[in-house]
Amino acid sequence: MISENDARAKILEAVRPLPPRKVSILRPSSGQALQALDHFAAEDYFARLPLPNFDNSAMDGYAVLASDCKPSKRLRVTGEQPAGVDRRLRVSNGEAIRIFTGGPMPQGADAIVMQEDVTRDGDAIVVNVDVDVEEFVRKRGCDLGEGQKILSAGERIRATTLALLASQGLAEVLVDGEVRAAIVSTGDELAKPGEELQPGQIYDSNSVLLQSLLKRCSAVVTSAENCSDDANSLRKTIQRAAKNEILIVSGGVSVGEHDLVQSTLRDLGAKIDIWRVAIKPGKPFLFGQLEKCFVFGLPGNPVSAFVTFLQFVRPAILKMKGATDLDLPKMPAKLTVDLTNESERAHYVRGKFENGTFAPVGRQESHALFGLSQSNALLRIETGESLKAGETVDVQLF
Ligand code: AMP
Ligand code: MG
Repeated sequence: MISENDARAKILEAVRPLPPRKVSILRPSSGQALQALDHFAAEDYFARLPLPNFDNSAMDGYAVLASDCKPSKRLRVTGEQPAGVDRRLRVSNGEAIRIFTGGPMPQGADAIVMQEDVTRDGDAIVVNVDVDVEEFVRKRGCDLGEGQKILSAGERIRATTLALLASQGLAEVLVDGEVRAAIVSTGDELAKPGEELQPGQIYDSNSVLLQSLLKRCSAVVTSAENCSDDANSLRKTIQRAAKNEILIVSGGVSVGEHDLVQSTLRDLGAKIDIWRVAIKPGKPFLFGQLEKCFVFGLPGNPVSAFVTFLQFVRPAILKMKGATDLDLPKMPAKLTVDLTNESERAHYVRGKFENGTFAPVGRQESHALFGLSQSNALLRIETGESLKAGETVDVQLF
């Protein structure tokens, strides 16, 4: 049995970033989703346009000279400047130009009076307020300077990142390579959701769990198969599934007579790098390589599969995708109960992070899917560690 840290280090050492590809930031004509969303930038991006790109009005109002304005001052309206076109107008003393939000600042003008602060009188306005220089003017480059870094390699592309790239006129972005993943759920007891359950059977919940977790990591699930605990079928299924960058096998990695995953992998010539990690739940976790495919054997118990996915598979995929941050987001939380880890393995307690507190939820056993489904955070307790209620701990959010 190796430590969790050693296992993680070994896995991260084995996997390498995949070659990047250019993808559209626009909605592809055929598809539903933004292609670049939730992928990782494969290079640094710098502003090629400042934001704003030209001085413009922040309000519907009048472009004026601030020094020319005081309450009761009358100004002649000499033109109109809408957004979307630069009419190259000019403002002199005693004049104002009708302007709309986003309209380019006329020459000579150094401020905007909003329309609520004037009284319109035919082709003139009467200013009702004092006006400061640059009031309601969005100056070129005040938000973002030309050449400023807008996106770093390894950073996740979010909705707002896409908006920023679009504001630069970019239609494509270079992102991480695609991680194709196959899932194999093993177990004679498994029935597919939607099928009729026979006595002794259970529904396969890991397959959908893993598909969802993979989707969250922006990996592409190419297949999700079920396989009975039969060496021949397992051999064929694994061979088929190993044509992807990664293969996740659920169940069959423990020590029982029906746990055939490890022996089948070895028969196929796989190199097993890790089997059994000091983590609770998740001890029988397996990691190896079958030709070019990285194989993760996750214990069949749903909570074990979940925890080992987050601690080992997720960082591996993120590394393959060139991500900088491989960890789950962490938050400090006030513990609501005393907790001690008397086991010889690091314990991941499932619970709810809410209003700055963390409370364990449900049964802390590896089969207890309901409690897991009500949780949103993991608390890692080191072997031998005792935590007291009221203490502040870091929890991992999922
Ligand atoms: P195993 O790792 O194959 O020894 O399975 C451990 C436990 O997890 C057993 O109780 C299995 O029935 C259960 N299990 C295995 N695979 C799944 C699955 N795909 N979905 C839900 N439970 C499973
Ligand atoms: Mg099994």
